[in-house]
Amino acid sequence: MSIVFLNQVYLPIEEAKISPMDRGFLFGDSIYEVLPSYNGQIVGFEPHIVRLNKNISAVGIKLAWSHDAWLEICQTIIEKNGCGNLGIYLQVSRGADTKRSHAYTKDIDPTVFAFSFDIPPEQIASKLQVVPYRVAISLDLRWGRCQIKSNALLGNVMHFQEGRQKGLDETLLYNDRNELKEGSTCNVYIVKNGVVVTPPIDNHILPGVTRYILLDLLRKNDSIKVEERVILMDEVFSADEVWVTSSSKELVPVIEVDGRLIGNGQIGDVWLAAQKVYSAGKKDY
Ligand code: PLP
Repeated sequence: MSIVFLNQVYLPIEEAKISPMDRGFLFGDSIYEVLPSYNGQIVGFEPHIVRLNKNISAVGIKLAWSHDAWLEICQTIIEKNGCGNLGIYLQVSRGADTKRSHAYTKDIDPTVFAFSFDIPPEQIASKLQVVPYRVAISLDLRWGRCQIKSNALLGNVMHFQEGRQKGLDETLLYNDRNELKEGSTCNVYIVKNGVVVTPPIDNHILPGVTRYILLDLLRKNDSIKVEERVILMDEVFSADEVWVTSSSKELVPVIEVDGRLIGNGQIGDVWLAAQKVYSAGKKDY
């Protein structure tokens, strides 16, 4: 049975109830995080909580919990749900109001919810162990505040589903200038002549924690060159490799984009090298 945290109480998921007047439910007026944990060890706790607190204050939700308070919740969720491969989900909504109005008052109490779900085991640096993605592409039709990790995810859901309906694993998004942005649930990279390139963060891209850790590790390691710059869609199709990252899937090679093979259609050597660097260093964050 899954044990969750809801407003200071740990209880079985079946008993967890929120008001239908909660603004998270009515408006998607809430912020969330997903932290990966392997055998009880969380990857990227600090950057995840920094992003969570930054986003909570960016949308004006009145909640300022310390890193220690969040750590205690994460650790208790892990303890109560077994120390497997878990995604720890944290959500803070603006709270339940008495009437449905776009305007919010200052005096409502946020709803804080945490639960865990199974994620794939940690990646092993082996081309034989990873299942590569085949992905769709789409013009990015989401809102212009994608840097905020908000639960208002209908735009992402619709883009993700477009890919799924074609039997594909993800949908990569580009803007009306043909610039690659990110995936509907992940950040994206190309590799050309040994250089890893990813789009710079702007308000159409979530600043992924996996992206931050990966780029930081690659720069410190110094064996693989990294660039943050605009990527045009033509460059995607002529890339040697394409990858995506997120907290629950780590670093996944993409071998086909919009029906076209990337490189020779095989998992690349730079992916393998970068994956080794990521696996070796990720638990230091
Ligand atoms: N971009 C989007 C739209 C996402 O939903 C996610 C993860 O959920 C990411 C990027 C990757 O972020 P992170 O590495 O922090 O999981």
